Amino acid sequence: MAQWAGMELDLQGRVVLVTGAGRGIGRAVAETFLRERALVVATDVDAAAVGWAEPAAADAGTTSLALACDVRSDASVQAAVDAALERFGRVDVLVNNAGVLGEGLVEEVDASTWTTVLDVNVTGTVRTCRAVMPAMKRQGGGRILNAASFAAIVPSVGSAAYAASKAAVVQLTRVLAGELGPWGVTVNAYAPGMVPTELNGFREKDQATQDRLLDTLTLRRWGEPQEVCDLLCFLASDAARYITGTLVDVSGGKLATQLPQRAY
Ligand code: ADP
Repeated sequence: MAQWAGMELDLQGRVVLVTGAGRGIGRAVAETFLRERALVVATDVDAAAVGWAEPAAADAGTTSLALACDVRSDASVQAAVDAALERFGRVDVLVNNAGVLGEGLVEEVDASTWTTVLDVNVTGTVRTCRAVMPAMKRQGGGRILNAASFAAIVPSVGSAAYAASKAAVVQLTRVLAGELGPWGVTVNAYAPGMVPTELNGFREKDQATQDRLLDTLTLRRWGEPQEVCDLLCFLASDAARYITGTLVDVSGGKLATQLPQRAY
């Protein structure tokens, strides 16, 4: 079991619903909570991608539930939360990981890219939060963890839609923390840095580009999904009970120092 400062995080039996759990960081998050013996509801718009979380026939439904869930749809989100509640009776932790990138200069980005990025990343987060809120209020507690990005603070040119969406997620996190504080529900955002996934293809870029990107990271290496998972286990645990409304930077120092950097 994972420990934090000598304390057992003790996530066993917590019901954790993860959006975008089909691949990348979201899948690693769902797998990590399963290893911590949480009851995991792994959801994704791509139903086949969460097939990995289908419980084996032998231990049917004991720890995980794989569900199709498109965060662009109120009905789809409500159905996933209802299924989670029916199966496990509660939702202790909601991880809003589902997200899309969207490149393009403001002058050029097409309207549908802009709308989709905002719809998935911002409104999708609002939808899942609205759907779990009644249960968390009834339970008298819960944890909501929202995927932001260093881009919420230091954006790249050509990423207006993505950066604006992640900045919105940070502000939404603070407002939700205020709204849910009286029910003992904490709401926090986390900012991964450059974690190579299929979608962002960091590792497929040419060496010079990779070197330039790595030079912007204080720790000068790519992030690992597990490094984000470790933070989320902490934020989901009792050890983080007095932390709410904050953005936790897990970017290897992307936000820490000015560029370019020099190795001394
Ligand atoms: P990361 O590793 O940063 O989480 P990925 O692109 O690897 O990024 O994973 C994002 C996940 O979010 C993917 O599994 C993708 O299918 C999922 N996703 C994208 N759009 C939606 C959506 N509308 N609803 C639910 N999940 C989505």
